[in-house]
Amino acid sequence: MTAPDFADILAARRRIAAHVRRTPLERSAALSSRLGGEIHLKLEHRQVTGAFKLRGAANALLALPEARRRAGVTTASTGNHGRALAHAARAAGVPAVICLSRLAPANKVAGVEAMGAEARVIGESQDEAMIEAERLVAEEGMTLIPPFDHADVVAGQGTCGLEIVEDLPDVGTVLVPLSGGGLIAGVALAVKTARPRARVVGVSMTRGAAMAASLAAGHPVEVREEETLADSLGGGVGLDNRVTFAMVRDLVDEVVLLDEAEIAEGIRWAYAAEGEVIEGGAAVGIAALLAGKAAPRGPTVALLSGRNIDLGLHRRVICSDTPWEG
Ligand SMILES: *Cc1c(COP(=O)(O)O)cnc(C)c1O
Repeated sequence: MTAPDFADILAARRRIAAHVRRTPLERSAALSSRLGGEIHLKLEHRQVTGAFKLRGAANALLALPEARRRAGVTTASTGNHGRALAHAARAAGVPAVICLSRLAPANKVAGVEAMGAEARVIGESQDEAMIEAERLVAEEGMTLIPPFDHADVVAGQGTCGLEIVEDLPDVGTVLVPLSGGGLIAGVALAVKTARPRARVVGVSMTRGAAMAASLAAGHPVEVREEETLADSLGGGVGLDNRVTFAMVRDLVDEVVLLDEAEIAEGIRWAYAAEGEVIEGGAAVGIAALLAGKAAPRGPTVALLSGRNIDLGLHRRVICSDTPWEG
């Protein structure tokens, strides 16, 4: 599979326009005065389904030829990608089976079903759920839509970057949450095509930063998965990564890693100073700025990628008056 180009992002925008929200970019008075720069927030957590993942899932699904769509789509994802694919499939009238392991919490299973997809609970681990998704592909002709390593998924996520450069043409720095790299690859391609001198900074958690370890090694490597507030940023990049590793290596200027207390500060700031409820994985841009780990050079954007946090956890984070130890 070849990497997408800028024209693919423009095509993605036309394809998904009726299915996704154009999310607001707002200047943060609080962060701007705290850091002495021009800081803006891309409020992508207000996207339909609560995260940017709908852009990529909808683009990959709508790019399929009619016959493949009729046979349905599948994925093995407990998180935002599963919700997004379930939603996109229902909107397009396409059957979808989201494979989840028996470890998936009941509310996630219910979440997928509420979006109108079949949740198939099978196996004792994410890997075993993936085997079922692969069986559906081999035996029932379904199409697997992966969460990040796919040209159409990356092009869909890139539409978020297009909106950023349209709303802030002289953007200097963009801070993007980084896991498998689908979001940052698309955003960097869009932003740097329009504005080659802009810097794109990826932000991950110290606990299990698979892309950072892969960049350091020069090829995709596995890291041990650990519990983190930024749970949406967990998981590997895939040892057979085909699209995002090379794009991130070639387009991203810098990767910053944060500890749990720093991520908690980002969640707290978003709530107390901006009035936004966001998940840990979405708070890392704000957190990197607050921790002084990323410099806001020129007009700066922190991309808030999702809002799907357990509300009990959110309450514990914002009410805790000691540094978060996780
Ligand atoms: C998936 C996800 C990310 C990371 O996106 P990648 O494309 O895997 O790098 C960041 N934030 C949220 C809320 C997500 O759901």
